[in-house]
Amino acid sequence: MPRPLRVAIVGAGPAGIYAADALLKSEAAAEPGVSIDLFERMPAPFGLIRYGVAPDHPRIKGIITALHQVLDKPQVRLFGNVDYPNDISLDELRAFYDAVIFSTGATADRELRIPGVDLEGSYGAADFVSWYDGHPDVPRTWPLEAEKVAVLGVGNVALDVARILAKTADELLTTEIPPNVHEGLKANKALEVHVFGRRGPAQAKFSPMELRELDHSPNIEVIVDPQDIDYDEGSIAARRANKQADMVAKTLENWAIRDTGDRPHKLFLHFFESPVEVLGEDGKVVGLRTERTELDGTGNVKGTGRFTDWDVQSVYRAVGYLSDELPKLPWDVESGTVPDEGGRVIEAGAHLPSTYVTGWIRRGPIGLIGHTKGDANETVASLLADHAAGRLLTPASPAPEAVEAFLAERRVRFTTWEGWYKLDAAEKALGEPQGRERVKLVEREDMLEASGA
Ligand SMILES: Cc1cc2nc3c(=O)[nH]c(=O)nc-3n(C[C@H](O)[C@H](O)[C@H](O)COP(=O)(O)OP(=O)(O)OC[C@H]3O[C@@H](n4cnc5c(N)ncnc54)[C@H](O)[C@@H]3O)c2cc1C
Repeated sequence: MPRPLRVAIVGAGPAGIYAADALLKSEAAAEPGVSIDLFERMPAPFGLIRYGVAPDHPRIKGIITALHQVLDKPQVRLFGNVDYPNDISLDELRAFYDAVIFSTGATADRELRIPGVDLEGSYGAADFVSWYDGHPDVPRTWPLEAEKVAVLGVGNVALDVARILAKTADELLTTEIPPNVHEGLKANKALEVHVFGRRGPAQAKFSPMELRELDHSPNIEVIVDPQDIDYDEGSIAARRANKQADMVAKTLENWAIRDTGDRPHKLFLHFFESPVEVLGEDGKVVGLRTERTELDGTGNVKGTGRFTDWDVQSVYRAVGYLSDELPKLPWDVESGTVPDEGGRVIEAGAHLPSTYVTGWIRRGPIGLIGHTKGDANETVASLLADHAAGRLLTPASPAPEAVEAFLAERRVRFTTWEGWYKLDAAEKALGEPQGRERVKLVEREDMLEASGA
């Protein structure tokens, strides 16, 4: 008797959920159908939408509602609070599934190798993001004593970090931030936030909308030095080739020529300043040294040998995320990704049978949520081609009940999709008395309990 194609997806962020969607929409979903189990190490799904996207971006967080449609389908199950490989290994997954897709994303900060990065007061953006987004596995408090703060990097994460540091706690109280984060932000002393990029306005990686949004807060004065507006031939070509880059440059130009207003928190966007050292005294950050750079004609920059010391008491490195290596899978140290061809995991030049990757663990930590969709489609197309060609391994125990019994026997307190609805309702109920859409639960135990795990 033919049975459904059984697929495990490890990591229930957008890439994993879009992969499930692509499988459901494929021809393979017709008789005998597909059956998909998502394994997620957090008690709740949605990856960086829940634990990365800034709380004052409710519209982006709202993508979760669209993703509900996929997880609502009877062919899809969620096993939350299940960690690969501690709770289920690759061999064990292979015993239950025809194919395994890894979509474990990225959680940590990429290193920035300059002297002083280990000083007290020097932080990775990912840690701060996890804190303000209520991630259960990070400390509940965050030191926010610095009056002047540096943020290194010119991508959207740098903007998120700078904006959260520059807004007032009460401005953020309309969002889903948990009580410990609101308390922490109330103690924030930051009056000046300085964002540094080593290249120019044409090379900034901001999205135009995210950049313009900085100016919407009644408490934030965005300041750009007119001397930082500079373009060479490479920059002009880059602006011509990329509409978004052009819009970003135009916004920065407008800000550079306007008068400075009197909003209480100043947010400076500096260009052509390359961070070379975090300065310290008694083990703590007391400044940042940058080297002035200049364009070399191609859009790249070179150092000028002119240095500036900035009076800041904390430094946030927003220079990119990094994925965790996955045990039993090949790993490309340079890119921090699992090597693949069309989503097929490649080890020693050959496809590791029945094993696939998608999302940031495949492409590296760049791109928006929407970009993971096309990526998932490509991976699923490879998987289905292998299925059609009879190249998938045959699992020993494909019955859907077998994996549940396995997790129960291993005493894994897993959450389910029904559990997410309960957690969702509990968080909404917490927010209701304050007229807020939700207030996030932070403690893993509270999340598990609310989910009925
Ligand atoms: C700070 C920040 C802000 C962002 N803001 C925006 C924005 O405003 N708009 C936008 O479009 N994009 C934004 N992005 C980008 C967006 O979050 C990513 O494009 C997207 O989340 C990548 O999806 P993914 O599924 O590959 O990875 P992730 O979202 O990281 O999902 C991976 C999932 O796998 C799980 N996992 C990891 N390891 C394991 C394991 N060993 N076992 C089981 N499960 C595991 C994780 O818990 C996670 O749930 C932002 C990113 C960051 C970092």
